[in-house]
Amino acid sequence: MKIIFDYNRTIFNPDTDNLYFGVLNLLKKLSKKYELFLVSRNEPNRKYMLEKLNIKNYFQEIFFLEKKSKKNFQLIAKGTKNVVVVGDSISDEIQIGNQLGFITVRLKKGKFATQIPKNKKEFAKFEIMDIRELENIILNHEK
Ligand SMILES: [Mg+2]
Repeated sequence: MKIIFDYNRTIFNPDTDNLYFGVLNLLKKLSKKYELFLVSRNEPNRKYMLEKLNIKNYFQEIFFLEKKSKKNFQLIAKGTKNVVVVGDSISDEIQIGNQLGFITVRLKKGKFATQIPKNKKEFAKFEIMDIRELENIILNHEK
């Protein structure tokens, strides 16, 4: 299974300039069993920040993109549908993941937490309030 993580407001809290509580532990655990990928918009300081956070080794690959698209996610998936997409943004991650038939997990936290999905494609398969809930979703999905 591949897991695609969004960066900003999914694992990283821009309000405190740090990872959300529990992220490090989660990445440590999941990276032992699954292939993890990180997608981030290419914004100033992001690359530098990622070096500082010392989490690069948990990911197979890290992508800095101008804009997230179906094409980017397809390149990561390499043909498999066994992909989980985790993000806080409906338009940037959930919608794209749904269109590709991936399992989508929406982290309802921060700025976009109150956004309301407008149609079926915008509804994540799972909604969580804390990134630490992801582990159980993955474990249950594997059964
Ligand atoms: Mg985000």
